[in-house]
Amino acid sequence: HELLARVRTQIKRKRHSDFLRNRIEETVEQAVTDALTGLHNRRYMEHHLDTLVRESTRTGRNLSMLVTDIDFFKHVNDTYGHDAGDAVLREFANRIRRNTRGVDLACRLGGEEFVIIMPDTETGRAYQIGERLRACIAAEPFFVSPEIAIRVTTSVGLATLEDANDTWQTLFKRADQALYASKRSGRNKVSTAA
Ligand code: GH3
Ligand code: MG
Ligand code: MG
Repeated sequence: HELLARVRTQIKRKRHSDFLRNRIEETVEQAVTDALTGLHNRRYMEHHLDTLVRESTRTGRNLSMLVTDIDFFKHVNDTYGHDAGDAVLREFANRIRRNTRGVDLACRLGGEEFVIIMPDTETGRAYQIGERLRACIAAEPFFVSPEIAIRVTTSVGLATLEDANDTWQTLFKRADQALYASKRSGRNKVSTAA
């Protein structure tokens, strides 16, 4: 009886510690994941971009990033409602997934703004990927319900790691400036940082 009772206690303890470990893993996962789209969130992006910039600077390897923002997204919300807007964001994230590799880091920064970080990718190749994504968004309408199809476009900015003075902030800033160049010049475009 004594032995049996002890074994039972140990099993209970083991189950409880497994349960806690799973909860911790879930919590960590949630802390770096965007709940709406399942992409990584801004916190994850900042941490990994910092690591990647340092590594690429040290090894001399290429690193490019795309920043993309949906055009006139406020209009989507205003016309079709916030839930339809959310459905567009989820499908937008799916199209990003379809246009990137496993090693690329796709993140939702917030709102309708997304980032794709591409290790070992030079400017020309990154431009092709940005252009392919832009075209893929514009080509097919977004079905937010079986009857409602919405056409959206997106503007893209591209920046590539340049020299040892670059940090994740300067790289991100250049990509963001390129994004605003795309917006200013009429949207539905890819621009490369100067
Ligand atoms: P632009 O072409 O200049 O980017 O215009 P825009 O309308 O896309 O830009 P703006 O920043 O004015 O609008 C972004 C809108 O995105 C406003 C906000 O209501 C909406 N938004 C932000 N987060 C979410 C979200 O999680 N879900 C939905 N449905 N809408 C969101
Ligand atoms: Mg926008
Ligand atoms: Mg925006």
